[in-house]
Amino acid sequence: MREILTEDRYKFLKREAHKLLNLSSNNNPFYLAKALKMNINICSLKDELKGFILDNSIYINDKLDLYSQKIICAHELGHYILHRNLNAFELFDTDTESITEFEANLFAKEIMPQMFSRIDMNEIKYVSDFNKFIENQIRFSK
Ligand SMILES: [Zn+2]
Repeated sequence: MREILTEDRYKFLKREAHKLLNLSSNNNPFYLAKALKMNINICSLKDELKGFILDNSIYINDKLDLYSQKIICAHELGHYILHRNLNAFELFDTDTESITEFEANLFAKEIMPQMFSRIDMNEIKYVSDFNKFIENQIRFSK
């Protein structure tokens, strides 16, 4: 993973994730979003759109199973904290080569390590390795 993010950027990302975790006694990303006074909207979205963030609201596709909704919520919180300077259009980016997607996914991993226990970050050499892994975790249940 060293090839992808600088040591400083990775440290910053971890620090921000742990600052957020300190706001709640629970690492459930829905509670963390509440602690930031954000709104969560589980709603009907176009099939392949899993979620997005707009101002202080996180929108999550209601056709995802609960596990996937939590990952998406943690991912969107990552964008909120790490990528405030980017506009919503850029955040719709689902390109598996996207570094912003990689960072948001890494943020989700810091928030919910128990959900990512099967991945060894030392084996991540390319942005797409991790992004595809996350992509494969997300399931539409309905
Ligand atoms: Zn994203």
